[in-house]
Amino acid sequence: MKKLDLPVVTFTRAQNQFRKEVRNFLERERSMGSFITHADSWMSGYSSEFSKNLGKQGWIGITWPKKYGGQERSALDRYIVTEELLAIGAPVASHWFADRQSGPLFLKFGTEEQRKFFLPKIAKGECYFSIGLSEPNSGSDLASIKTKAEKVEGGWIINGMKTWTSGAHHSHYAITLCRTSPPDAKNRHAGMSQFVLDLSAEGVTIQPIQFLTGEHHFNEVFLENVFVPDEYVVGVIGNGWKQGMEELAYERSGPERVMSTFPLLQEAVEYLKEQNDVNGLAQALQLVSRMWSLRNMSIGVAQMLEKGEDVSLTASLVKDLGTIFEQAVAEMVRLLIDSTPSVTSEKLMDRLMAESVLHGPGFTLRGGTTEILRGIVAKGVLAK
Ligand SMILES: Cc1cc2nc3c(=O)[nH]c(=O)nc-3n(C[C@H](O)[C@H](O)[C@H](O)COP(=O)(O)OP(=O)(O)OC[C@H]3O[C@@H](n4cnc5c(N)ncnc54)[C@H](O)[C@@H]3O)c2cc1C
Repeated sequence: MKKLDLPVVTFTRAQNQFRKEVRNFLERERSMGSFITHADSWMSGYSSEFSKNLGKQGWIGITWPKKYGGQERSALDRYIVTEELLAIGAPVASHWFADRQSGPLFLKFGTEEQRKFFLPKIAKGECYFSIGLSEPNSGSDLASIKTKAEKVEGGWIINGMKTWTSGAHHSHYAITLCRTSPPDAKNRHAGMSQFVLDLSAEGVTIQPIQFLTGEHHFNEVFLENVFVPDEYVVGVIGNGWKQGMEELAYERSGPERVMSTFPLLQEAVEYLKEQNDVNGLAQALQLVSRMWSLRNMSIGVAQMLEKGEDVSLTASLVKDLGTIFEQAVAEMVRLLIDSTPSVTSEKLMDRLMAESVLHGPGFTLRGGTTEILRGIVAKGVLAK
């Protein structure tokens, strides 16, 4: 059986200084009214103005080469920015997927033209991407997707449907997984390819799916004879599964899989301190200590990414534990503090509570369900 070998990371003085810089910037922005704190803000907090502001700081695509608009900083510096944004519940959903996974996908598999065209715009906080994987009967079992791309002169014609596509109504593009040839009898994962889908192209219809809160975050995306030029093929035709799985490692590995309800936890601790509620604080402390362990594991994964190591197993493990923790925060705080949850409340506690409880069921589904992640961990741990 394999050993779990997560590196233990200590931040340097320069990194701690950088964290202060990021935190001061965010606190200043919030006090100027550029945003208010939300739970799960990486999924639901859209503000192109805020994204552009962050882009001006150089904090989107921060690890990418300078020639593509990046800063060539470390994965741990990226971790610091990400963690501070989540802790304060800033509106980062517009650029989140592009920064987290579409940009790195172009860096690894894209053409030089794609890198030069997309990466600087993403880094400026001006170009947003969605993820076009799930379909009505294909979520965990992505190899069963039906959306098809057929070769024509100069490009591809796409027909099909994607669902649960977060932010498609705000994004410019979606990295879309399509079948380009039938599944191989021996390998169901063969014959899939990734395309950059222009969400404003003719034949694309985006319809909202209402969230439990009543808000509009994800969508159904209908694709009817949508033309995608050859220049928008990502990587190699037929290699979509392998490329997609590498992308998923970025999707699963970040602190957003631990911190979606952190603003609620922080607010609860402040409230319990004010009330001098010693019993309540003792219970909240249990959450804080779980958070501490998960945080260290999550930072360890960031360090592995920095070294170019395979994080598919460790990221799945941290995501499984992390998302269950996020749900536990909502549940425990709900029992500890008497509030009247409402997503439109002026009271921070009531709003964060409503957002955390209503977003909670999705935490263990999005980006791979608990059962699927445990399958990956079990196979990975037992593999010789
Ligand atoms: C908030 C949110 C945002 C999302 N955003 C996006 C997005 O932007 N883009 C996108 O493409 N998708 C998105 N999704 C979809 C998400 O990726 C899927 O919901 C997820 O992969 C599960 O797929 P499914 O819903 O089809 O459920 P299913 O795959 O049908 O699973 C249903 C249940 O069966 C279990 N199950 C399935 N297969 C197995 C198995 N082999 N072994 C054991 N148990 C199994 C699952 O664990 C689950 O409990 C989003 C989902 C949510 C909740």
